[in-house]
Amino acid sequence: MEFIYRGVRHTNGRTVVTVDGAPLPFDGRHSPTGLEWGYQGSGPAELARAILTHHNRGEPVAPTVYQHFKAIGPATWKADRWTIATSDIDDALRAIRSTWAIDCVLCADTGRREVRGHWSPCRCRRARATRSSTR
Ligand SMILES: [Zn+2]
Repeated sequence: MEFIYRGVRHTNGRTVVTVDGAPLPFDGRHSPTGLEWGYQGSGPAELARAILTHHNRGEPVAPTVYQHFKAIGPATWKADRWTIATSDIDDALRAIRSTWAIDCVLCADTGRREVRGHWSPCRCRRARATRSSTR
């Protein structure tokens, strides 16, 4: 399924980000005041996390992964309006995984990931290998 994400900064400075026309959910971890772009900071980090969480069907990716996405995506968007599609995000994730040699975007190969605010073993192969080696 292809989604279209859009951001608009209004003349009053307020930003609105939608996915297929509905507000893009975000949890305010980095930026309680909202989603931003065009610089390296907490608003763009929040936007990167929100886009990738939605893209990943509600499952947050590892902080390492969304911070890399912020650096090549939201931080570089200088215009007041932008649009990005599912296929663009797939391309960005492919580039990030290749550049940083990351197999699992959920845990960034640490074997642990966040599930509903708690750190848990990741379901990837790496996590199982880690668990079996500690037995
Ligand atoms: Zn993993």
